Amino acid sequence: MKVYVMIGAPGAGKGTQAAILAQRLSLLHVASGDLFRDAVRNGTPLGREARRYMDRGALVPDPVVIGMIEERLDQPDAAAGVILDGFPRTRPQAEALDAALAQRGARVDAALYVGVSEEELIRRLSARWVCRAAGHPYNERSHPPQVPGVCDLDGSQLYQRDDDRPETVRARLAQQLPPMYEVIDYYTTQGVLVAVDGAQPVEAVTEALLSAIAHPARPGRSEAA
Ligand code: AMP
Repeated sequence: MKVYVMIGAPGAGKGTQAAILAQRLSLLHVASGDLFRDAVRNGTPLGREARRYMDRGALVPDPVVIGMIEERLDQPDAAAGVILDGFPRTRPQAEALDAALAQRGARVDAALYVGVSEEELIRRLSARWVCRAAGHPYNERSHPPQVPGVCDLDGSQLYQRDDDRPETVRARLAQQLPPMYEVIDYYTTQGVLVAVDGAQPVEAVTEALLSAIAHPARPGRSEAA
Protein backbone atom coordinates (compact mmCIF):
# COMPACT_ATOMS: atom_id res chain seq x y z
CA MET A 1 0.00 0.00 0.00
CA LYS A 2 1.40 3.38 -1.06
CA VAL A 3 0.85 6.18 1.41
CA TYR A 4 1.36 9.86 0.63
CA VAL A 5 0.58 12.52 3.17
CA MET A 6 -0.34 16.02 1.96
CA ILE A 7 0.62 18.84 4.30
CA GLY A 8 -0.44 22.43 3.91
CA ALA A 9 -2.26 25.17 5.76
CA PRO A 10 -5.98 25.66 5.09
CA GLY A 11 -6.08 27.40 1.70
CA ALA A 12 -2.66 26.26 0.51
CA GLY A 13 -4.25 24.16 -2.23
CA LYS A 14 -3.43 20.81 -0.72
CA GLY A 15 -6.96 19.48 -1.31
CA THR A 16 -6.80 20.47 -4.97
CA GLN A 17 -3.40 18.82 -5.35
CA ALA A 18 -4.48 15.71 -3.43
CA ALA A 19 -7.44 15.20 -5.79
CA ILE A 20 -5.23 15.61 -8.87
CA LEU A 21 -2.47 13.34 -7.53
CA ALA A 22 -5.00 10.66 -6.53
CA GLN A 23 -6.23 10.57 -10.11
CA ARG A 24 -2.77 10.66 -11.70
CA LEU A 25 -1.41 7.95 -9.39
CA SER A 26 -4.64 5.87 -9.18
CA LEU A 27 -4.78 6.14 -5.41
CA LEU A 28 -7.70 6.85 -3.07
CA HIS A 29 -8.07 10.46 -1.94
CA VAL A 30 -8.90 10.50 1.78
CA ALA A 31 -9.77 13.99 3.04
CA SER A 32 -10.35 14.04 6.80
CA GLY A 33 -12.36 17.28 6.58
CA ASP A 34 -14.71 15.70 4.00
CA LEU A 35 -15.16 12.61 6.20
CA PHE A 36 -16.12 14.90 9.10
CA ARG A 37 -18.45 17.02 6.96
CA ASP A 38 -20.18 13.81 5.73
CA ALA A 39 -20.57 12.67 9.33
CA VAL A 40 -22.02 16.08 10.32
CA ARG A 41 -24.43 16.00 7.38
CA ASN A 42 -25.54 12.48 8.28
CA GLY A 43 -25.96 13.42 11.94
CA THR A 44 -23.87 10.46 13.19
CA PRO A 45 -22.42 10.45 16.73
CA LEU A 46 -18.99 11.16 15.17
CA GLY A 47 -20.47 14.10 13.30
CA ARG A 48 -22.11 15.55 16.40
CA GLU A 49 -18.82 15.30 18.30
CA ALA A 50 -16.75 16.79 15.44
CA ARG A 51 -19.10 19.67 14.83
CA ARG A 52 -18.45 21.18 18.26
CA TYR A 53 -14.84 21.77 17.21
CA MET A 54 -15.22 22.46 13.48
CA ASP A 55 -17.67 25.33 13.97
CA ARG A 56 -15.06 27.35 15.81
CA GLY A 57 -12.12 26.41 13.59
CA ALA A 58 -10.56 24.14 16.22
CA LEU A 59 -9.00 20.74 15.61
CA VAL A 60 -11.07 17.68 16.48
CA PRO A 61 -9.38 15.67 19.30
CA ASP A 62 -6.72 13.21 18.12
CA PRO A 63 -8.40 9.94 19.25
CA VAL A 64 -11.56 10.82 17.30
CA VAL A 65 -9.61 11.61 14.13
CA ILE A 66 -7.28 8.63 14.36
CA GLY A 67 -10.13 6.15 14.82
CA MET A 68 -11.94 7.57 11.81
CA ILE A 69 -8.85 7.37 9.56
CA GLU A 70 -7.95 3.81 10.62
CA GLU A 71 -11.47 2.72 9.73
CA ARG A 72 -11.13 4.35 6.31
CA LEU A 73 -7.72 2.71 5.64
CA ASP A 74 -9.32 -0.71 6.14
CA GLN A 75 -11.94 -0.25 3.41
CA PRO A 76 -11.24 -2.31 0.25
CA ASP A 77 -10.94 0.77 -1.98
CA ALA A 78 -7.88 1.89 0.04
CA ALA A 79 -5.92 -1.33 -0.56
CA ALA A 80 -3.67 0.00 -3.35
CA GLY A 81 -2.82 3.13 -1.44
CA VAL A 82 -4.01 6.53 -0.34
CA ILE A 83 -3.30 10.21 -0.50
CA LEU A 84 -4.10 11.52 2.97
CA ASP A 85 -5.35 15.09 2.84
CA GLY A 86 -5.79 16.95 6.13
CA PHE A 87 -4.35 14.13 8.24
CA PRO A 88 -2.05 14.00 10.17
CA ARG A 89 -2.44 17.57 11.48
CA THR A 90 -0.55 17.06 14.79
CA ARG A 91 2.56 15.18 15.85
CA PRO A 92 0.58 12.62 17.90
CA GLN A 93 -1.55 11.98 14.80
CA ALA A 94 1.63 11.44 12.75
CA GLU A 95 2.94 8.96 15.32
CA ALA A 96 -0.42 7.17 15.46
CA LEU A 97 -0.43 6.96 11.66
CA ASP A 98 3.03 5.36 11.65
CA ALA A 99 1.86 2.79 14.19
CA ALA A 100 -1.34 2.07 12.24
CA LEU A 101 0.60 1.68 8.98
CA ALA A 102 3.25 -0.54 10.57
CA GLN A 103 0.46 -2.90 11.67
CA ARG A 104 -0.62 -3.05 8.05
CA GLY A 105 2.90 -3.58 6.65
CA ALA A 106 3.08 -0.06 5.21
CA ARG A 107 4.69 3.29 5.94
CA VAL A 108 4.50 6.91 4.78
CA ASP A 109 6.26 6.93 1.39
CA ALA A 110 6.45 10.71 1.22
CA ALA A 111 5.04 13.73 3.05
CA LEU A 112 4.23 16.42 0.50
CA TYR A 113 4.24 19.97 1.89
CA VAL A 114 2.59 22.72 -0.16
CA GLY A 115 3.90 25.98 1.30
CA VAL A 116 2.10 29.36 1.01
CA SER A 117 2.64 32.60 2.99
CA GLU A 118 0.18 33.49 5.74
CA GLU A 119 -1.07 36.72 4.10
CA GLU A 120 -1.81 34.83 0.90
CA LEU A 121 -3.68 32.13 2.87
CA ILE A 122 -5.98 34.72 4.45
CA ARG A 123 -6.63 36.33 1.06
CA ARG A 124 -7.39 32.97 -0.53
CA LEU A 125 -9.59 31.50 2.22
CA SER A 126 -11.83 34.53 2.63
CA ALA A 127 -12.56 34.37 -1.10
CA ARG A 128 -13.21 30.62 -1.26
CA TRP A 129 -16.62 29.17 -2.14
CA VAL A 130 -17.42 25.49 -2.63
CA CYS A 131 -20.31 23.64 -4.27
CA ARG A 132 -22.93 21.81 -2.24
CA ALA A 133 -22.89 18.63 -4.31
CA ALA A 134 -19.18 17.76 -4.33
CA GLY A 135 -17.20 20.52 -2.65
CA HIS A 136 -15.65 21.73 -5.93
CA PRO A 137 -13.66 24.85 -4.95
CA TYR A 138 -13.94 28.35 -6.48
CA ASN A 139 -12.29 31.65 -5.64
CA GLU A 140 -14.02 35.03 -6.01
CA ARG A 141 -10.87 36.55 -7.46
CA SER A 142 -8.63 33.91 -8.98
CA HIS A 143 -11.12 31.24 -10.09
CA PRO A 144 -14.71 32.55 -10.19
CA PRO A 145 -17.51 30.31 -11.51
CA GLN A 146 -18.92 31.14 -14.97
CA VAL A 147 -22.35 31.83 -13.46
CA PRO A 148 -22.17 33.51 -10.04
CA GLY A 149 -23.21 31.15 -7.25
CA VAL A 150 -23.39 28.05 -9.46
CA CYS A 151 -20.86 25.20 -9.84
CA ASP A 152 -19.40 24.95 -13.39
CA LEU A 153 -18.98 21.20 -13.02
CA ASP A 154 -22.28 19.98 -11.57
CA GLY A 155 -24.63 23.00 -11.48
CA SER A 156 -25.11 22.83 -7.72
CA GLN A 157 -25.26 25.93 -5.50
CA LEU A 158 -22.04 27.49 -4.16
CA TYR A 159 -21.69 28.40 -0.50
CA GLN A 160 -19.03 29.72 1.84
CA ARG A 161 -17.98 27.15 4.44
CA ASP A 162 -18.69 28.42 7.98
CA ASP A 163 -15.00 28.07 8.79
CA ASP A 164 -13.95 30.09 5.69
CA ARG A 165 -15.58 33.28 6.98
CA PRO A 166 -12.83 35.87 7.55
CA GLU A 167 -13.25 35.97 11.35
CA THR A 168 -12.92 32.19 11.59
CA VAL A 169 -10.02 32.06 9.12
CA ARG A 170 -7.64 33.88 11.45
CA ALA A 171 -8.62 31.63 14.36
CA ARG A 172 -8.10 28.52 12.21
CA LEU A 173 -4.63 29.61 11.13
CA ALA A 174 -3.57 30.59 14.65
CA GLN A 175 -4.66 27.19 15.95
CA GLN A 176 -3.59 25.03 13.05
CA LEU A 177 -0.21 26.40 11.92
CA PRO A 178 1.85 25.57 15.04
CA PRO A 179 0.88 21.85 15.03
CA MET A 180 1.41 21.74 11.25
CA TYR A 181 5.01 22.91 11.70
CA GLU A 182 5.50 20.09 14.21
CA VAL A 183 4.26 17.59 11.64
CA ILE A 184 6.68 19.06 9.08
CA ASP A 185 9.55 18.68 11.58
CA TYR A 186 8.50 15.10 12.26
CA TYR A 187 8.61 14.08 8.60
CA THR A 188 11.81 16.06 8.01
CA THR A 189 13.47 14.02 10.74
CA GLN A 190 12.15 10.84 9.11
CA GLY A 191 13.69 11.93 5.80
CA VAL A 192 10.44 11.75 3.84
CA LEU A 193 9.47 15.43 3.58
CA VAL A 194 9.13 17.02 0.15
CA ALA A 195 8.43 20.77 0.12
CA VAL A 196 7.06 22.60 -2.93
CA ASP A 197 6.20 26.25 -3.49
CA GLY A 198 2.40 26.53 -3.33
CA ALA A 199 2.35 30.08 -4.71
CA GLN A 200 2.93 28.68 -8.21
CA PRO A 201 0.05 27.94 -10.62
CA VAL A 202 -1.85 24.70 -9.85
CA GLU A 203 -0.29 22.76 -12.75
CA ALA A 204 3.25 23.75 -11.74
CA VAL A 205 2.64 22.61 -8.16
CA THR A 206 1.33 19.24 -9.46
CA GLU A 207 4.37 18.74 -11.70
CA ALA A 208 6.74 19.61 -8.82
CA LEU A 209 4.99 17.06 -6.58
CA LEU A 210 4.95 14.31 -9.22
CA SER A 211 8.59 14.84 -9.99
CA ALA A 212 9.51 14.71 -6.29
CA ILE A 213 7.56 11.45 -5.92
CA ALA A 214 9.23 9.95 -9.00
CA HIS A 215 12.74 11.02 -7.94
CA PRO A 216 12.92 10.71 -4.16
CA ALA A 217 15.84 12.57 -2.63
CA ARG A 218 16.84 9.46 -0.70
CA PRO A 219 16.63 6.42 -2.97
CA GLY A 220 15.72 3.33 -0.99
CA ARG A 221 13.44 5.31 1.37
CA SER A 222 10.68 5.22 -1.25
CA GLU A 223 9.64 2.55 -3.71
CA ALA A 224 8.00 5.08 -6.03
CA ALA A 225 9.25 4.68 -9.57
P1 AMP B 1 -10.47 20.75 6.38
O1 AMP B 1 -11.56 20.53 5.39
O2 AMP B 1 -9.31 19.81 6.17
O3 AMP B 1 -10.04 22.17 6.49
O4 AMP B 1 -11.08 20.32 7.81
C1 AMP B 1 -12.19 21.01 8.35
C2 AMP B 1 -12.21 20.85 9.86
O5 AMP B 1 -12.30 19.45 10.21
C3 AMP B 1 -10.96 21.33 10.57
O6 AMP B 1 -10.98 22.73 10.80
C4 AMP B 1 -11.02 20.52 11.86
O7 AMP B 1 -11.98 21.03 12.74
C5 AMP B 1 -11.52 19.17 11.37
N1 AMP B 1 -10.39 18.29 10.97
C6 AMP B 1 -10.11 17.81 9.75
N2 AMP B 1 -9.01 17.02 9.77
C7 AMP B 1 -8.56 17.02 11.05
C8 AMP B 1 -7.46 16.43 11.71
N3 AMP B 1 -6.55 15.67 11.06
N4 AMP B 1 -7.32 16.65 13.04
C9 AMP B 1 -8.20 17.40 13.72
N5 AMP B 1 -9.25 18.01 13.15
C10 AMP B 1 -9.46 17.82 11.82
